[in-house]
Amino acid sequence: MTGPRRCAIYLRVSLDATGEQLAVQRQRADCQRIADQRGWQIIGEFVDNSISASDKHKARPGYDELVSANKAGEFDALVCWDLDRLTRQPRQLEDWIDAAQERGLLLVTANGEADLSTDGGRMFARIKATVARGEIERKAARQRAAALQRAERGKPPLGVRLTGYSPAGELIEDEAAIVRQLFDRFAAGDSLRALAMWLTEAKVATRHGRPWNPSSVRTILTNPRYAGHAIYQGKTNGKQGTWDAIVDDDVFRLVEAKLADPRRKTQQGTDRKHLGAGLFECAKCDSKVRSWSGNRYRCPNGCLTRSQHQIDTLVIKTMRERLSRPDLAGLITPKESERAKAASEKVKQLNGRLELIEADYDAGNIDGPRYKVSTEKVKAKLAEARLTQARLSTRSAAASTLSAVDPVAAFDTAPLMIRRNVVDALCSVKLSPTPRGRKTFNPDSVNIAWRED
Ligand SMILES: [Zn+2]
Repeated sequence: MTGPRRCAIYLRVSLDATGEQLAVQRQRADCQRIADQRGWQIIGEFVDNSISASDKHKARPGYDELVSANKAGEFDALVCWDLDRLTRQPRQLEDWIDAAQERGLLLVTANGEADLSTDGGRMFARIKATVARGEIERKAARQRAAALQRAERGKPPLGVRLTGYSPAGELIEDEAAIVRQLFDRFAAGDSLRALAMWLTEAKVATRHGRPWNPSSVRTILTNPRYAGHAIYQGKTNGKQGTWDAIVDDDVFRLVEAKLADPRRKTQQGTDRKHLGAGLFECAKCDSKVRSWSGNRYRCPNGCLTRSQHQIDTLVIKTMRERLSRPDLAGLITPKESERAKAASEKVKQLNGRLELIEADYDAGNIDGPRYKVSTEKVKAKLAEARLTQARLSTRSAAASTLSAVDPVAAFDTAPLMIRRNVVDALCSVKLSPTPRGRKTFNPDSVNIAWRED
């Protein structure tokens, strides 16, 4: 070899080390001293900050650059503080041992323990890497066992906290209110997209600082922890959590059923912008009216076209009057919630039956054709029960407005989809055609009928 050896330095600050957290500056000084003592020329320094050497899935850009520089033959000596800092993966260590043997790469650690050019040094390096690997695996196993135990005791999982709760599982009230609204609004018919937009506009922070999108909203709506269920590895384990639920189990199941409803996909993007579209009816043919250009409602069969504003104002005024009367409590709430409960019981029951059939089939008690017939029957009933459940869920979304301390204020501040549900729960609105050319609004042309219970 002519000239001095070309030497690379690899530095890494590790937060997972033994708490020692050797600063980069000290590592650098030690490594530079070694290069100087041997008369090596430093061609480059490769640095990673706070990145573990034990997780092969974590990107270590400095390390990656070092590997490609080595492949390109840019250096023939490598100095690092100790082997742990270079790699804790036996496979990666073997690559360095290969480089040492094939190309005569000198690998020196600042603490003087590894010299890959000798048998003894290689053996030492391998033992060290294997021991480190074993420690990592034991640590992972301990963490898994601890997580399982926590779940069995109904404690919240460690790690990133859930929106609405502190890491210890205590309620954070303002966040919990938002989560509750998310469930209510989705149950009332808002789309995932509309909810993501609402959260963004309300400047609610995501846990990771990324913007809200339908899938992050869905992640919240599908987390059983909000209904108080303990989970292990993302699934409920049948244990009750030690924390306070943010939503009722019923609401959670309803939202679950709605998310699973295949019709939901095709309804996406149909977030209603008008109070009565698809809700008010044509008095002549009973069809639901649609929104029409120029802020009007129109019967799909062409019986009428009427401007929305005065109709909506009248309906809202009538609703507010009704909501301010003291006999409101119990108007629909108990009956509806009982029916919703029955529907969710039914779904649970049918799911149980499906599991039994599966078990019978697995145990060989029934044959293939029989299995097929039985499951199809139950599945049809299940779809029907889910439908009922989903239909009732729009009604139960109205219940939170009706059971509010001040129902009028709750109605005034409720999002449009929930207001529509309240209207739908309490009354039917039928629109009659108005004579051509008539300019004044005739309240009698809007028939508001209270629903009989
Ligand atoms: Zn009509």
